[in-house]
Amino acid sequence: MALQITAAGQIHLKRWVQELQDDLADVLACHQCGADQDLTLVVEDEEVRIRCPHGHEWSDREVVPWAVRQVLHQSYTNSPVWLASPGQIMGMALPLIDEDQTLQPFAVDDVDEDDPRWGWECDTALPEGPALVQSMRLARDLANGAMLAEGTLFDLWHPAVGGDPVLSHMTTVVLALAIYAAAEQERRIILKEVSLEAVRLQLAATPADLLRALRPTGTADWGGRLRRVDAQRLDRATDQEWALWHGAALATVRCQAEFETNAHWSRSPSLSLVCRQYWEDDMTWYQGEIGGFPV
Ligand SMILES: [Zn+2]
Repeated sequence: MALQITAAGQIHLKRWVQELQDDLADVLACHQCGADQDLTLVVEDEEVRIRCPHGHEWSDREVVPWAVRQVLHQSYTNSPVWLASPGQIMGMALPLIDEDQTLQPFAVDDVDEDDPRWGWECDTALPEGPALVQSMRLARDLANGAMLAEGTLFDLWHPAVGGDPVLSHMTTVVLALAIYAAAEQERRIILKEVSLEAVRLQLAATPADLLRALRPTGTADWGGRLRRVDAQRLDRATDQEWALWHGAALATVRCQAEFETNAHWSRSPSLSLVCRQYWEDDMTWYQGEIGGFPV
C-alpha cells in the first residue's frame, strides 16, 4: 500500500556531512522552485518521492520510508515534524490503548516461596522493575523499530493509516511473554541482556498453549502481572488471532536481527541498540493503579 502525507509547515532534518563527521540541521526544499512548505512525501515499493505544491518531484537519499513513517506518527499526534536520519528513532511511535488497566490480582496464596521462579521475580523487581514490566518495555522498543522498518507492520498497527492498536499491543504482549520466558530460563535479572536468539527460540519452539498460558507472578507491590484484559484476550483468542500476534512477534524479532547484521544501518549508532536500550516511553499505561516500581 502506498503511503502519502502532506506535511503542514516545514520539514526539518539533519544531514550527515562527511567532512565534518557530524549532522547539520537543514530544511527540506524543492530543488526547482525552493518551496519548503506543504511538501508531500509518498512511499511506494519502499521508495520515497517528494512532491512540492507546484508539482515538482524528486527523491533524496536522506529521506527514507523509515523516516516518513515517523512523520506520519508526528502528524497524527500533532508533534513538530522532524525527518529522522536513516535508522534513527525519534521516539515511541507505537500506539497506546486507552482501556481498563487493572492488573491480574496478585495471587498470594499461590506463591510458593521455594519456587525458583518466585525468587527470580523478586530479584528482578528491585534493580530494574518486575520482569514482565522490563519485558514489555523491551517488546515495545523492538516492535517500534520493526514497525518503522516494515511497511506491512506499520499498516497493520498504526492508527494513522487505519491500523489496529490492539493488534500491535497483543503482539508486544506475546513478544514480552517470550522475553520473560527466555530470561527466566537463564535467570537474568537485567532482561535487556537476553539475546535476541533466545527470544526467537521461545517464540519458535515453545508450544503455543504454554506461551499463551504463561502468567507472570509479579510482585505484591510493583505489579509485573498481565493486565486483566490482556489475559482475557489471550484466553479467548481464536487460533487465527493467536497466529496473527505470534507471527508478527516473530517478524519483529527477525527485523531486529536484520538491523544488527545489516551494514546499511551501521552509520546510526543507536540502531543496533533498539533491543539494548530503552527509548522514552510511558509505562504507567501498563501499571494500572499499582505503579511505583523503580525505573
Ligand atoms: Zn517546486
